[in-house]
Amino acid sequence: MSKAEQLPNLPSVDQVLKEATIQSLLQPRPHRRVVAWIRDSVDGIRQQILANDSSGSDDLIRAVTSRVEQLHQQDRGQSVRRVINATGVVLHTNLGRAPLAEQAIKRVNEAMRYANVELDLHSGRRSKRAQRIGKLIAQLVDAEDAVVVNNCAAATILVLQAIAAGREVIVSRGQLVEIGGGFRLPDVFCSAGVQLREVGTTNRTYASDYQSAIGDATGALIRVHRSNFQLTGFVTEPSIDELVSLPLPEDVPVIDDLGSGCLEDLADLGLNEPTVRTSVAAGADLTLFSGDKLFGGPQCGIIVGRARWIERLRHSPMMRAMRIDKMTLAALEVTVDLHYSDQSRSELPVLRMLAEPSEAVRQRCERVRRHIDTDSPIDIVACQSPVGGGSVPGATRPSYAIKISGRHIDRIASQLRGGDPAIQGRVADDSLLLDLRTVANDEVEMLIGRLQHVLQSPGEGRHR
Ligand SMILES: *Cc1c(COP(=O)(O)O)cnc(C)c1O
Repeated sequence: MSKAEQLPNLPSVDQVLKEATIQSLLQPRPHRRVVAWIRDSVDGIRQQILANDSSGSDDLIRAVTSRVEQLHQQDRGQSVRRVINATGVVLHTNLGRAPLAEQAIKRVNEAMRYANVELDLHSGRRSKRAQRIGKLIAQLVDAEDAVVVNNCAAATILVLQAIAAGREVIVSRGQLVEIGGGFRLPDVFCSAGVQLREVGTTNRTYASDYQSAIGDATGALIRVHRSNFQLTGFVTEPSIDELVSLPLPEDVPVIDDLGSGCLEDLADLGLNEPTVRTSVAAGADLTLFSGDKLFGGPQCGIIVGRARWIERLRHSPMMRAMRIDKMTLAALEVTVDLHYSDQSRSELPVLRMLAEPSEAVRQRCERVRRHIDTDSPIDIVACQSPVGGGSVPGATRPSYAIKISGRHIDRIASQLRGGDPAIQGRVADDSLLLDLRTVANDEVEMLIGRLQHVLQSPGEGRHR
């Protein structure tokens, strides 16, 4: 059919709405959204006809409904829901980094109603938001004081803006990283109104490089932890101790952007990540880290350090724009309590997952395999789980995965993602790997149920 013949036959919104497949979409979705998808789809088909002189199909109403269905699936795939993380990546930024401890989830649930974020229930007076948590965090890492903002990038901007705006920030060329999502630290820094003063080279920077750059224009020295890549070989960079020992003017602090807030030494797990306490003890004036990386809590940026600098941050107008909400505060309180309790490795999911012996992961894999009844080849294979999420670059933990091979791997992966709860694994060499290091024991039942269902749907397994 030609352009001239097809265009007048394009269905109206009302016609499409009467279609059975569209009617079923209307149950869970608001009418207005479905109508918008229909308009987009009719428009798309019209453009296609105009461009190609044909829609490629004579059944225009079907062409439109299948587009609407596609838009619906795309939309559903982006709406935020629970995911079972079978990627093995413990801190998966695309999956929201650290899962919260059960106790933290409960407290967030409570705080979602009215909660005393700025009310002292003892005195009945107004209190300062996050003041208590600041003290608790400071004590935890032996710092003088602490404040919390929305994330570590915000912490960086707040610190530089409040302390070094209009002046120079000295940083090593080897540390000007891109933190993911296209955000580059030099741009983040500059948005705080400071000038970057780069010193050293990509692989080698000495304390003397910083020293010769220090002058009247200097506002701060910053060290950025290389949290998402490694430099090996001919590499030198000064430690925080060395930077602190430089002859610095009174009003020039040494800032340590750790990225990942590692509270305990994880060397026994083969993970060499600097701890917050070490940075504070070395004399950093301000140490910055994320709440949702190795700290194992909600998304936030934590700044610990000397009282006089923290006080300055508290009075910055930026602070008000970056303050955390009640849900974050509730989750953070519980997370901090768990760090105090010495049960962090058993109670904080991130640390529990990292510390779990691979044999326990293997047993979980066995349990899943025992319960799946399918013709698809299922193996249990050894693998490595990356820590991920901007901490301990390149580091992995030995693990085990369920390996599903055979045909239809992409369809199986897509069905696992599309269901409820969604399951995300990783596809490699025509197999689907489900690394169970990041699947909790109480998620195994759900995983088995969904896997069983998907492996037996048409096109796969015994019911082929
Ligand atoms: C992760 C990271 C950041 C950003 O932290 P967010 O909490 O995601 O804003 C900044 N600096 C370093 C070194 C990091 O590793």
